[in-house]
Amino acid sequence: MNKDCLFCRIVRGEVPSQKVFENKELLAFKDINPQAPIHIIIIPKKHINSLSGVEKKDDVLLGHLQLVISEITEKMLGKNSSYRVVTNCGEEAGQSVFHLHYHLLAGRRFTWPPG
Ligand code: AMP
Ligand code: ZN
Repeated sequence: MNKDCLFCRIVRGEVPSQKVFENKELLAFKDINPQAPIHIIIIPKKHINSLSGVEKKDDVLLGHLQLVISEITEKMLGKNSSYRVVTNCGEEAGQSVFHLHYHLLAGRRFTWPPG
């Protein structure tokens, strides 16, 4: 846990969030500035700066995180739905909160390549 990190503060309940999923290791909540009709942020509760900060011992956690994303989408959108999962890693890639998180975006058509 990191005292000043925004997402650690959300995990601790010091900053309010609209939770959509929570278990011992992970938390998912609605993005405050949604870029699609559905925009959920999924984080490990453990503080990791970004995907660049993961270690070998995080492999189970990271696998678990992807499974949970798949479960959330199935619950919210049904089977075989369309959605996009993004993690911005580093400032030049658009990362603004330095606690590993995945954006789950759905509910509209997306273009490729992203901006
Ligand atoms: P990134 O730019 O990839 O680091 O993503 C950070 C995301 O966190 C942005 O999409 C923000 O809109 C979102 N965000 C910032 N503050 C909050 C908050 N208090 N509650 C929910 N989402 C937030
Ligand atoms: Zn943190």
